[in-house]
Amino acid sequence: MAVQREWFEKDYYKILGVQKSATDKEITKAYRKLAKQYHPDANPGSEDKFKEVSAAYEVLGDEAKRKEYDEAKDRGPIGHMAGDFTQNIRTEDITDLLGGLFNRGKSRGTGPQRGADQETEVHLSFEEAVSGVTTAVTVSGETACVTCAGTGAAPGSVPVTCARCQGSGRVSDNQGFFSFSQPCPACGGRGVRIEKPCPTCGGTGSQTRTRKVNIRIPAGVESGQRIRIKGRGGPGKAGGPNGDLLVTVFVSGHKTFGRRGKDLTVSVPITFAEAALGATVSIPTLETPVSLKIPAGTKSGQTFRVRGRGVEASKKDPTPGDLLVSVEILVPKELDRDQIRALEQLQKALKQEPRKKLGGEWTA
Ligand SMILES: [Zn+2]
Ligand SMILES: [Zn+2]
Repeated sequence: MAVQREWFEKDYYKILGVQKSATDKEITKAYRKLAKQYHPDANPGSEDKFKEVSAAYEVLGDEAKRKEYDEAKDRGPIGHMAGDFTQNIRTEDITDLLGGLFNRGKSRGTGPQRGADQETEVHLSFEEAVSGVTTAVTVSGETACVTCAGTGAAPGSVPVTCARCQGSGRVSDNQGFFSFSQPCPACGGRGVRIEKPCPTCGGTGSQTRTRKVNIRIPAGVESGQRIRIKGRGGPGKAGGPNGDLLVTVFVSGHKTFGRRGKDLTVSVPITFAEAALGATVSIPTLETPVSLKIPAGTKSGQTFRVRGRGVEASKKDPTPGDLLVSVEILVPKELDRDQIRALEQLQKALKQEPRKKLGGEWTA
């Protein structure tokens, strides 16, 4: 994952109000409390604060990200320097700049280079998105050549240090007062010379091919979301780290259920009599159906919550989503004479005045 500029500017521990030594549990607890407090629904105008808290938790709530964040902060002065230098540089470039700073003094060739980020997409069923899934995606792009393992040298031979630049990858050219440094023309800036190029990649050390990558998709992804999988992108050069794999997720719809964030939604028809008298009805879920008690006097469109039947719990979010059941009162369309008579009798007996509250001349 790219080290982000915000990491040097923000103290996520301070934002969440926890010690640096806080446990995962303490961090999650602090986050929940603040997220509730600053949630824009509950507290309009607090969006910025809410975003800040969420951003802090996104890093500290993830074991791997938290470790990286701590390490980046510990680098201290260099980190701050990089922050100052890079005011106008895109976040993605910062890793490269930091890499350059850290590797200063042991320059060899053009130095280790991070591999390129690669992109692919995955199409999931509604159920897979709700429960999470391990699946294979195809990625087409530059990978380390399989024949030479990325060295560029033919099997049985090894790359040798370039004699012209002594492996630095750059040569200086003194022209009077000025000294120009430019990529070494003998080795193309790589610092090594391939005497017997690999027959598969022609000495470049990389080839474009399609490969399959197994990835774990967490429960609760939404259509259009992009997931970053660290280190599964293009190969790093000269010992640099691999790039990341960015997977855009597409989720199919469902004929019965909808999704609202972590919650599933379903519309369930009930009869007028069930709504008026109350009833226990069977509700479909993604697994076995559940019984739901509808109280007497239920209104059309009223929503009931079936706990824990939405998006499954995950490591990142241990609380599962719910199933939101909205009831829809069925109105019969074709009635025979007996039914019409029965309804007319019911209407008389009920003596309702449904529009009385509205006032005006059309109250009758
Ligand atoms: Zn050279
Ligand atoms: Zn090769």
